[in-house]
Amino acid sequence: MNASTNGLPRVAFFDFTSCEGCQLTVLDALQTHPELLKVINIVEFREATSARSEDYQIAIIEGSCTRPSDEERLRRIRETAVYVIALGACAHLGGINAIRNRQPLQDVREYVYGDKAEWYETYPARAIDQVIQVDAVIPGCPIDREEFVRVVTVLLQGRQPKLPDYPMCIECKLHETICVYERGQICLGPITRAGCDAVCPAYGYGCEGCRGTVSAPNIDSFVEMLADRGVNRTEIEEKMSLFLTNQKVLELEEEMANV
Ligand code: SF4
Ligand code: SF4
Ligand code: SF4
Repeated sequence: MNASTNGLPRVAFFDFTSCEGCQLTVLDALQTHPELLKVINIVEFREATSARSEDYQIAIIEGSCTRPSDEERLRRIRETAVYVIALGACAHLGGINAIRNRQPLQDVREYVYGDKAEWYETYPARAIDQVIQVDAVIPGCPIDREEFVRVVTVLLQGRQPKLPDYPMCIECKLHETICVYERGQICLGPITRAGCDAVCPAYGYGCEGCRGTVSAPNIDSFVEMLADRGVNRTEIEEKMSLFLTNQKVLELEEEMANV
């Protein structure tokens, strides 16, 4: 990574359609890990500083692309940055914003904006890698602050950050957490990327898949398990609608047609 004039990589944060909770988590991380501020130069970060810059090497982008003007802004960022990181589920997956993609866009617009629907430009929500090339992802809703620190540290060491690529169930087993299916709940852990320490099952809730799926989810085995547990297609579609609308788990939905 090329250094800037003061010897530190220049980092800029950008937000698109999001709740900005992931940026807040970054602010938390910078307070618990102030040493990061000695090795990067933050040149733009709306939640933390009024400084603006068109000169940066690392762009960290939160939020989904939800309107035509977002595309132009994303392309400008991509042209400037050497390295682009998608921050959080909205940027990584389309996230919660993509729930609306499951319904006719005009219905959603009228529901939100009423008779002023035509005043606002908007279209189906997309992950940012559906618009520009992304070099790394920090998943989650919100992100995990320790993972943020790890990814940035690895990147500054000149290495490519890697995420766990095994299912959440492994973390559950490591923590000896009782599977929520034993309590009659539904959990997307068998197909979801680990890395959050299976925090939701640890508190007795099924995983919603906010970290996205592993790269090769074992759909056959998951469908078989759901069938054994008596979970029907509607229930699993509902569970996947929160974060996985845009992920390629259509195969799962097709398989579930027979359950
Ligand atoms: S991923 Fe979640 S916490 Fe982060 S910006 Fe989107 S909605 Fe907010
Ligand atoms: S609670 Fe979810 S993640 Fe944990 S073992 Fe059960 S299915 Fe897997
Ligand atoms: S358990 Fe699932 S929903 Fe909960 S934080 Fe982890 S990936 Fe997200």
